Amino acid sequence: MLPTLFLSHGSPMMALEPSPARDFLSQLGEALGRPDAILVASAHWETARPELNAVAVNKTIHDFYGFPPALHATRYPAPGAPELAGRVATLLNEAGLAAELDRDRGLDHGAWVPLTLMYPAHDVPVLQLSLQSRLGPAHHHKLGQAISRLRAEDVLVIGSGSFTHNLSRLRRGAPDTSPPADVAAFSNWMHDALVQHRTDELLAYRRRAPYAALQHPTEEHLLPLFVAFGAGGENAAATRLHASTTYSALRMDAYAFG
Ligand code: ZN
Repeated sequence: MLPTLFLSHGSPMMALEPSPARDFLSQLGEALGRPDAILVASAHWETARPELNAVAVNKTIHDFYGFPPALHATRYPAPGAPELAGRVATLLNEAGLAAELDRDRGLDHGAWVPLTLMYPAHDVPVLQLSLQSRLGPAHHHKLGQAISRLRAEDVLVIGSGSFTHNLSRLRRGAPDTSPPADVAAFSNWMHDALVQHRTDELLAYRRRAPYAALQHPTEEHLLPLFVAFGAGGENAAATRLHASTTYSALRMDAYAFG
């Protein structure tokens, strides 16, 4: 049975520039094998209520500015999964999480940057699930729990965000080997809570984890973690697949659940 994944997607430049996280993602698809379909909950799609994109072929959304033309020219035209989107919407509705379909939207860079590295042939059907960032960790944990059976259907569930994400603290060219102490303290607390499956503490991370609000001034880049954690299933083992830092303070950690 497939694990669920939390991936840190970093800067869109990861699609072009070498980095340890890029090397990790470049081998991950082959390590996992080819799933039937991929569902991505990305930090870059927020809506009032849960939505799933249900399209025949995904458009590539370039939801960023000021990057090189090569990045704006990158396309990831993976097929959509409209039938699966309908079934996932039903699962969410049955869990009391009223969901809707978006029959136009494609893939944002939180989805396509990791997928260009994991499955460069873009031949696996992909759909996205939106976040509701004002509803916090418990809501996103519930979203994940509601779709946990997808693991058994060979659907790879990915939460795509960032383990830390305070853009005001990023430093280009700073050494990545010694991140600020608060970044390490937060990351270590989260790691221990994840591998020890301390769900209640994780859902209260903003009060419990050291320097939480400093790492995540807004929550949208951490919420995909709770979707993946919930979708892993009851007591699913958490495994850290990767840990690195870019731009001094941006942690690129990745986890598997189950
Ligand atoms: Zn992002």
